[in-house]
Amino acid sequence: MDEQNIKEGIHKLKRTVLVVDDELINRELLGAILQQKYDVIYAENGRKAIDIVRKIPGRISLVLLDLLMPEVNGYEVLKAMQADPKLRKIPLIVLTSEKDAEVESLQLGATDFIPKPYNMPEVIMARVQRSIELAEDSDIILATETDRLTGLYNKDFFFQYCTKSDVYVPGRQMDAIAVNVSRFHLVNELKGRAFGDKILCALADEIKYFAFQSEGLAGRGGSDLFLVYLPHCDSHRDFLESISDATAEIAGEGRINLRMGVYQNVDFSISMEERFDKANIACNTLRKSASEHYALYDSNLHEKELFAEKLIDEMDKALAQKQFKVVYQPKFNIKGEEPRLCSAEALVRWQHPELGMISPGLFIPLFEEHGLISRLDDYIWRDVARQIRDWKNRFGTAVPVSVNVSRIDLLSQGFEEKMADIVRGNELQTSDMLLEITESAYTDSSDRIIDIAHSLRSRGFKLEMDDFGSGYSSLNMLAALPIDALKLDMKFVRNICGNAKDLRMVQLMIEIASFLNVPVIAEGVETKEQYLLLKENNCDIIQGYYFSKPLFVEQFSELIAKQGGK
Ligand code: C2E
Ligand code: CA
Ligand code: CA
Repeated sequence: MDEQNIKEGIHKLKRTVLVVDDELINRELLGAILQQKYDVIYAENGRKAIDIVRKIPGRISLVLLDLLMPEVNGYEVLKAMQADPKLRKIPLIVLTSEKDAEVESLQLGATDFIPKPYNMPEVIMARVQRSIELAEDSDIILATETDRLTGLYNKDFFFQYCTKSDVYVPGRQMDAIAVNVSRFHLVNELKGRAFGDKILCALADEIKYFAFQSEGLAGRGGSDLFLVYLPHCDSHRDFLESISDATAEIAGEGRINLRMGVYQNVDFSISMEERFDKANIACNTLRKSASEHYALYDSNLHEKELFAEKLIDEMDKALAQKQFKVVYQPKFNIKGEEPRLCSAEALVRWQHPELGMISPGLFIPLFEEHGLISRLDDYIWRDVARQIRDWKNRFGTAVPVSVNVSRIDLLSQGFEEKMADIVRGNELQTSDMLLEITESAYTDSSDRIIDIAHSLRSRGFKLEMDDFGSGYSSLNMLAALPIDALKLDMKFVRNICGNAKDLRMVQLMIEIASFLNVPVIAEGVETKEQYLLLKENNCDIIQGYYFSKPLFVEQFSELIAKQGGK
């Protein structure tokens, strides 16, 4: 009943039962019954019982509790244990001779009761054993139901509980919510896994708390994906804000970005999994946006997702059947009196047998995201190289053609060697193929890309920085970059005539190019006014619908024939 007793009672293999009764005779009777199988420790009143369970909560497998005791009685012990999450799990059997007390103690959280007097030892033994087994089973169930790191329900159990909650509260409108951490792999890579785990736990705690307050449920759907099932509400932006604050406390303001996708007023006729798929689809639409973190699902999104899947599935077949065609958009040098054809940009088109012509804006980002772009680009570059060879053979001359090179292409193994092989294999010069690399490729992963760019240039390739103005290059950085031309982002050119700020931006970019001693290409030039204004501001080269749309091979061949090449 004291320290000594507790220590003796702590035995590794046998389960420990705490007997709480103020009468010595009762303690001895129960002890005699139980000790063949259990380690038994004793408390002669409620206060001591509470002391013991608080000291060694994990060691006690069951409490046998007398209700009527001096000082602190059994009811108070029951209440104190129920109030403490650590102690709530310990099964508790009430010892009583009053029928009324049984009901009340069960309501207070007792597992079972044993009637006094203790004249049926086998019954007592059986009840104790059953209660311990039940409690241990439910511990095991809890361990498989919940995720180890965060304590949230695993996906499968989460779905089961959501389904149950629909049954318990019929007719209640519900929202399915997916929460994702943007670029979580970077958090792990840059700050270490332990830090990543800390962020996930903080998020989980806040999500759990919010779900609990709102009478909803929360689960973990995967590494950095959290799922929440909440009663319908017009906006869950407050929820997003409160969980963002929780990560800001650890990582600092704005360091961790979250995305939240909401499928509102779920359709109860579809499965729980499908409901959360929809939330996830909404969440994924935010992947590319730096400023928006909250999106609602609408049925068009699903259509888009299906369309995207179709394109990804069919890429291989399309390559084999040569459904991808290259079109050539002329670039004109405008420095002289008359615009002069000086090169072209190769742009891919997908001539789909059922869907017709598909624009690269639809499939290039998808292929990039799914790691498929290099295969398509390889095909395009070889096609372009062969075409230049053909023009040289037919006309004795050709213009250089620029091809688009994705960041993933640049970083792929043996890229420079492959490019050189393609050129050599068609008996071309490296100056026949220009490489367009988008500005953000340089700024996202600069060091490695810059090395590759140097190596490409040392082989004689010329590099054009595409979409200049859309990334975040600083002037210092630009001065160190190996580039041969700047291609202005189309969005500035579009408004150059009506918007003084955009005109000023273009002028600045042209000044930067002149500082770097490289020519400026403006693309997306659609009108005479834009062309003249750009000319006036010393732009060197122009590409756009005003001069020509991208052309199929035969049309472009006519242009070369007419202009006589370089
Ligand atoms: P980009 O490299 O910035 O290409 C310029 C885009 O602007 C092309 O769209 C072109 O058709 C369009 N354009 C040209 N002149 C005008 C104009 O005056 N007005 C307007 N509104 N648009 C004009 P496209 O062909 O749809 O290509 C979109 C993007 O897809 C390209 O942007 C490029 O990033 C990517 N892309 C195209 N072909 C390939 C390829 O073979 N490989 C890779 N990796 N990406 C490609
Ligand atoms: Ca381009
Ligand atoms: Ca561009």
